Amino acid sequence: MRVINTKELIPVVNDLVKKACIDLDDNLMNALKQSILLEESELGKEVLETLIENANSAREKQVACCQDTGIAVVYLEIGQEVSWEGANLTDMINEGVRQGYGEGYLRNSVVGDPILRENTKDNTPAVIHTNIVEGSEVKITVMPKGAGSENMGRASVLKPADGVEGVLNYVIETVENAGGKACPPLIVGVGLGGTMEKSTLLAKEALKRPIGDRNPISHIAALEEELLQRINDLGIGPIGIGGRVTALDVHIETFPCHIASLPIAVNLQCHANRHASKVI
Ligand code: SF4
Repeated sequence: MRVINTKELIPVVNDLVKKACIDLDDNLMNALKQSILLEESELGKEVLETLIENANSAREKQVACCQDTGIAVVYLEIGQEVSWEGANLTDMINEGVRQGYGEGYLRNSVVGDPILRENTKDNTPAVIHTNIVEGSEVKITVMPKGAGSENMGRASVLKPADGVEGVLNYVIETVENAGGKACPPLIVGVGLGGTMEKSTLLAKEALKRPIGDRNPISHIAALEEELLQRINDLGIGPIGIGGRVTALDVHIETFPCHIASLPIAVNLQCHANRHASKVI
């Protein structure tokens, strides 16, 4: 058994928060550059160039790439041969979030009570997801999620008879309803199957995949391609000003489900596709 003191998570989460909010990764930057070649509208091309310039400037000046630095979503993939010691693990993750948002001068956007809506003033608590995997390492991923794109996601339980057409229509309708509000070009995460809550978790998990990556199941990969094509036929375009590039990619994650149900969730990610990971 490998023993890890939970305090080790504080500096890791601190660094990942700042890295994610300030330094958009090469995968996204390359996808934005490629999308200029696909964009047919001159104004759309200009918007994409501005997004790239903005991201480069944020990296150079070490400031946030968007004013909405999000709520921190933190994933822990914990090897089953790891044993924890020390203080409460959730508290240590939140301490890392607190330090990262403070040191990075990142906007605190979290309210403690959804009705009373008082700002917690340090962007805690984080939304934490844990998963037990093989091995003796821990992979930590921080994904700050802005409200503009998060607010336009949807979840439902379709009837199995709705079939593939029902799935395609649901995803396309979600993107169409979002229009420019979710700050396209988007990465569209789709969770299909499981139960109502499982599909929403899958939809967000799907956003962690690199742009250009395809689901290993061939008919699901084909659905990803078809959705990308049909979403980009909608004409919403970069930032919603009209154009060809509404989405950079569509990722679908699936899970077995009950014979009588077809849960579906769509989680939209804006062009500030922020996530950073580290393995300890
Ligand atoms: S949706 Fe994304 S790009 Fe738009 S304001 Fe929110 S974080 Fe920023």
